[in-house]
Amino acid sequence: MRSGFQQPPSFTATPQGENEVNDPRVGRISVVGLCVFVLCACLGPRPQQSSPALVRPTARQACGDGVCTPPENMATCAFDCTPPPARTYPNPLPSNTPQPNPPASSVPGVVYLGVMVHLEGWGDDKSENRFGAHTVQIRDAASLFEKYGARLTFESKEVTEGVLRWGDNVLLEMEQRGHGVGVHADLGGSLSDDCARLAPELRAEREQLESLGVRVRHVSGNNSHCDWIAATIDAGYSFTTGVVAYGVMSMPAANRPPEFRNCKSPAACHDVFPPELEDRLHPWRPASGSDWLTHDPNGKLVILASGQGIACAQEETAGQDTRNGCLFEHADVEAMMDVLDQALELSAPDQVNILYFSWSLGSPLDPLVLEQWLKAVEPYVKAGRVQWKTLPEMYDAYVAWEGG
Ligand SMILES: [Zn+2]
Repeated sequence: MRSGFQQPPSFTATPQGENEVNDPRVGRISVVGLCVFVLCACLGPRPQQSSPALVRPTARQACGDGVCTPPENMATCAFDCTPPPARTYPNPLPSNTPQPNPPASSVPGVVYLGVMVHLEGWGDDKSENRFGAHTVQIRDAASLFEKYGARLTFESKEVTEGVLRWGDNVLLEMEQRGHGVGVHADLGGSLSDDCARLAPELRAEREQLESLGVRVRHVSGNNSHCDWIAATIDAGYSFTTGVVAYGVMSMPAANRPPEFRNCKSPAACHDVFPPELEDRLHPWRPASGSDWLTHDPNGKLVILASGQGIACAQEETAGQDTRNGCLFEHADVEAMMDVLDQALELSAPDQVNILYFSWSLGSPLDPLVLEQWLKAVEPYVKAGRVQWKTLPEMYDAYVAWEGG
């Protein structure tokens, strides 16, 4: 969604306790301490009065109230000032602990985890410099995830034209490095669009990307008031991703959720859809454009429903407005881990369970915070509860599951 040139990585995490050292109140307190000291000197010793550094905080600030109020510190009030233990994510099966096989019925499901990356908004087709800078971001992101045995799914908008114009076939390289590649169309999103044009335009996008030697089976950014299910099938795609609430505009108005009955644009109704995680956990085959929440086993298209945006994971989970963008920080990592825990809870051992987050690149994400997430997921992967998958791999797993 958001377009932009290379922005500096956002870095927000402030280590615990750093603030206390530079806190102006500390200075103020030593002055107070000094005064008390002088007073003591003037008025003579008082039994057991604390030294300036140990000036006893007021009742409200007493040690034990859970608030580390200066001059309290680890030495003087461990109770209040011991930083909370770093969040350790439940590691269901510490890798070296032999676990007896639980009875079959309670075998937990495995969740296929992924990341959908929309490559958009850098003007790759117009500027070789920007295209070059964009490809650096793409390769850096791929290398970071590869370090943790993970693979991304890149969905290209203007990067396809950039490759054709400037020659560096970063998309074929990504496919060869095991990442997924697909089309990010951003078509059909205007109520004045001519619906007869949607299928041919989506097909042209597929054929253009295929001309780079990449295998193309899916598209995102195709939600429309037109029958985008039929158009996507006619354009030759097997599955579609990144569905947002705007997609209900192809349904009869009476069947749309009230809050999405009159969406003006995909940006205005950009919420993940369906809203409930359990309704997004398993792929399905939409019956038609007017009724795409209903599963039809004979349907020609598969929907892989998307999770939150990575940069706004915390805000989206809290139902906040994210149209002005978000700062990617540790709270977003926590929010994504919470969603993963919920998906694991809901997962069924005899079904394909998917969870993927979206990233518009668009805006680079702080690699340090991304790495925190990759590290947090590692114990789950080691425990066999989570497998990193590209979106084409999730589709293949679903088709294989259908085949029984
Ligand atoms: Zn987009």
